[in-house]
Amino acid sequence: MDTLARGAKWLRFELTQGQLETFRRYLEELEAARPRLRLTALTEPESVQRRHFLEPLALLVALEMMGPLGGTAIDVGSGAGFPGLPVKIVRPGLKLTLVEAHGRRAAFLEHLVGRLGLEDVTVVNGRAEDVAREPRHREAYDLALARAVAPLPALVELTLPFLRVGGLLAAPKGSRARREVSEAAAALRACGGVVESVRPLDVPGAETPPTLVVVRKTSNTPDRFPRRSGIPAKRSLR
Ligand code: SAM
Repeated sequence: MDTLARGAKWLRFELTQGQLETFRRYLEELEAARPRLRLTALTEPESVQRRHFLEPLALLVALEMMGPLGGTAIDVGSGAGFPGLPVKIVRPGLKLTLVEAHGRRAAFLEHLVGRLGLEDVTVVNGRAEDVAREPRHREAYDLALARAVAPLPALVELTLPFLRVGGLLAAPKGSRARREVSEAAAALRACGGVVESVRPLDVPGAETPPTLVVVRKTSNTPDRFPRRSGIPAKRSLR
């Protein structure tokens, strides 16, 4: 776990032995489940540590520089737990919900949460379009995380309904980040958000650093959003 330990130090995280051990177990679980679940294309442990562990920690550093994190977070389209679970490992006080549409991946997340001994993590197997309509999840979170789930116009519609007014969406994006931001103008207006920052994320050892887009929710999302399952991605708001 040298890559993680060195990278975390560079990010000024003092990982405890217990946290390093939790990350080590996480790596083992990913390794064991990869053939069945196609959870991550990355096979080299160094690449997994960089992309799946250090990138979420870098995201956390960037967010905490913007102000204190609230107590509740939701990771939408979490896959094998990214970026939500690494954040939870280093901020154990956070109450975290993971939403994942794919049944077997959601079952793996349940298994993982148990194996890693994490408390206050809820796994919801469902589509964000449906889960966001449930009263206990609607406008209930301080922070929404989502990586590699949808282009920003659809992502705004899928995630902002989960946020209370004042909450933040943090979405690491690739090279199209700025273009996605301009394409998301209508979705932001409709769902009640404004872009607060767009900047490269300092991920130790990353060849092409992702761009972190942070959106603040500024007004309540009308009840008609998100539209029904599949529509936000198919016909993004314009
Ligand atoms: N966020 C993880 C990461 O960065 O490694 C997983 C990324 S994977 C490319 C996208 C995941 O989002 C898949 O596991 C997929 O099942 C899930 N997903 C896509 N659309 C979704 C939706 N509308 N609601 C819930 N999950 C969704």
